[in-house]
Amino acid sequence: MYLDAFSDWLKWRGGPPAFRIHGKGRRERSWRIIDVIATARRDWDSRWPLWQGTCITWTAEVIAVGWDFARGVLREQMQAPASRRFPVSVAGGRLGDIERRQRAGGADYPSFSEILAHECGHTWQASRLGDIYLPVVGFTTLFLEGPRPWNHFENEASSQGLFGGIVTGSVCRQLLTIAGERRQETG
Ligand SMILES: [Zn+2]
Repeated sequence: MYLDAFSDWLKWRGGPPAFRIHGKGRRERSWRIIDVIATARRDWDSRWPLWQGTCITWTAEVIAVGWDFARGVLREQMQAPASRRFPVSVAGGRLGDIERRQRAGGADYPSFSEILAHECGHTWQASRLGDIYLPVVGFTTLFLEGPRPWNHFENEASSQGLFGGIVTGSVCRQLLTIAGERRQETG
């Protein structure tokens, strides 16, 4: 299957992941280990317009994020670690629907960890859909969440995705260094 080869290539090209996570869809029986690869092209100040501040799930095994985002997840997880027993899910099953999030007792805007849970929902779609995942979901993602049929995959990623924590010992040295420097700056 080409997605397996693509996963291998992404991992080789991206070097060691920023960290690894436990993730799955609600309907999936067992947890999967997913590489979270960080790239400066996905940072908020990136000059790549379509990549700026975005995450993308490439395959069932690889999620790409910016270093800013990876640091945000690490910071949240150091304060309140998720686990497979107590995973993070998207409040109200929607990242962008403030009313629905409030009804579910969530914050108005999603945390980094919730966005990662959404991406875990996409990894479940990738494992289910195989080779058609990227052409089909990659395209519909542009439509975001909403009530229309073409919002299906985004809605499903938000309602199904579970982030079961960072795999122990998997945080790369570079991210630990960045996180440490930032802590000193902010005192
Ligand atoms: Zn999405």
